[in-house]
Amino acid sequence: MQITQEFDFFVIGGGSGGLAAAKQAASQGAKVGLADFVKPSPLGTKWGLGGTCVNVGCIPKKLMHFAALAGELRKDQVEAGWINADIKGKHDWNRMTENVRSHIKKLNFQYKNQLNNKEVKYYNKLAELEKSNIVKLIDKDGGVEFVKSKFILIAVGGRPSYPEDIPEIEKKVITSDDLFWLPNNPGKTLVVGASYVALECGGFLNGLGCDSSIMVRSILLRGFDQEIAGKIEDYMVESGIKFIKEAIPINIEVIEHNRRLVTWKQKGVQHSDTFDTVLIATGRKSDTSKLNLERVGVKTNKNGKIICTIDDRTSVANIYAIGDCVEGRPELTPTAIKCGQLLANRLFGGQKKMMCYQFIPTTVFTPLEYGCIGYSEEEAINKFTQNEIIIYHSIFKPLEWNLLESHYAQACMIKLIVMVSTRRVIGLHYLGPNAGEVVQGYAVAIKLGATKEQFDATIGIHPTCSEEILTLTAVKGIDNPQKEGC
Ligand code: FAD
Ligand code: NDP
Repeated sequence: MQITQEFDFFVIGGGSGGLAAAKQAASQGAKVGLADFVKPSPLGTKWGLGGTCVNVGCIPKKLMHFAALAGELRKDQVEAGWINADIKGKHDWNRMTENVRSHIKKLNFQYKNQLNNKEVKYYNKLAELEKSNIVKLIDKDGGVEFVKSKFILIAVGGRPSYPEDIPEIEKKVITSDDLFWLPNNPGKTLVVGASYVALECGGFLNGLGCDSSIMVRSILLRGFDQEIAGKIEDYMVESGIKFIKEAIPINIEVIEHNRRLVTWKQKGVQHSDTFDTVLIATGRKSDTSKLNLERVGVKTNKNGKIICTIDDRTSVANIYAIGDCVEGRPELTPTAIKCGQLLANRLFGGQKKMMCYQFIPTTVFTPLEYGCIGYSEEEAINKFTQNEIIIYHSIFKPLEWNLLESHYAQACMIKLIVMVSTRRVIGLHYLGPNAGEVVQGYAVAIKLGATKEQFDATIGIHPTCSEEILTLTAVKGIDNPQKEGC
């Protein structure tokens, strides 16, 4: 075996975590190599450097979410007095996807440039572990080379998983790996799943004019505040989305005109309907099966997620892992990035700082967005006793909505979960417009240990939705959450 290059740090996977770690390690003076290779989806969709977030995740999702909200604004424009706002106009899927693709391609190019500028050697090759310090690289034509590295980082992320028991399901459905690159409008769509991906995609597809149904196996948004999950469902139903609850698909058949005949079981009863597209959003599995982990002794759990210590070390001393492929880590871009940067600083910058996984904010980009930080009501009640926490709540209507007939008045909600003993805010939930923008700043306050009284002492910016978080007085179980007046 001939070694073609030797590195201090070799990164497998050029997504959010891998790119951040590689660039940071190079900034600290390490000699760095990075391999990124996209295995096409079962339908043949493929993309460039940057991983899930850039190509088939956060970025195209947010752009399509925006496109859908922009459509809703047409109704708002009429109520706001704009003449000739064309509320009956149709959406042009091709134009949107061309613009989305063009942005993604710019990002792919920028990432290559950044690696180049930092002198990170980039390999567009599929990597597997040969030995604990040797990586085998395979190019698209099957050509092989071997590189050696003192430290190896695995940051291979995950790929969509499919429900079992439906024959040849991969060929009959799409996943989020295909949706953003579809050449044509998906038409009448069945989304299977009920968490982040399903609700976000089902939400924007409906907003773009597709007849959308979402098939829910158990509950919406497992792990999130369930009162808010219920309000998300109400808002989505109000927007025209159909939910098929407590149901699982049992068969999918491709019929004439390329339509899909889907049969499902709901509370023991069999139903069926035809759809143009079936989008499977039933979770993701880590992309570790072909890395040869067992051969070099890197331990995984039964789902293929790599088992790591808190300092990102695998069961092999010089091999590290970060991001979606690691057991117990949140599957979010900013956590993968931060983890990668901190690891590089520890390995090459003489620093000691570890990743902190407490109070990580997140937003679900459903048609009405939901941002949260810390404990849900259910988690707080489970962890503490009912007497140890107090929950403040409010149902409010954004000022702008008063111009409009079309919005649902009871839709928006805020919830603060506070420890009785310390008055520390340990959970914040906001369902309303621009949730990501609203909750981000509050994450700083909560991370610093802010109390309810410190929230109350902060002067709001009027008139905004965000100020509602600073004026909560209604206590859950005692007071009505309905907010009235200014
Ligand atoms: P990835 O970004 O998946 O990168 C892994 C890379 O490794 C890929 O390029 C892959 O092709 C490559 N690779 C795999 N195996 C090999 C190999 N053997 N050799 C070489 N290369 C290999 N997160 C948010 O924070 N906000 C959002 O709004 C958000 N929206 C999302 C929407 C969708 C539809 C999805 C699916 C995810 C979303 N996420 C979001 C999650 C986010 O995209 C991931 O958490 C993040 O991309 C994980 O980064 P990573 O570095 O672990 O892996
Ligand atoms: P999740 O693992 O979060 O949820 C999977 C969903 O599919 C659940 O509703 C689950 O239901 C359902 N499900 C699982 N198996 C089946 C089955 N066989 N039949 C029917 N339903 C099934 O996966 P997602 O793909 O939604 O998201 C993956 C991760 O990506 C998220 O955890 C998140 O971290 C990240 N992400 C982040 C986003 C953001 O930050 N805005 C956006 C999108 C993704 P049940 O509850 O019954 O198990």
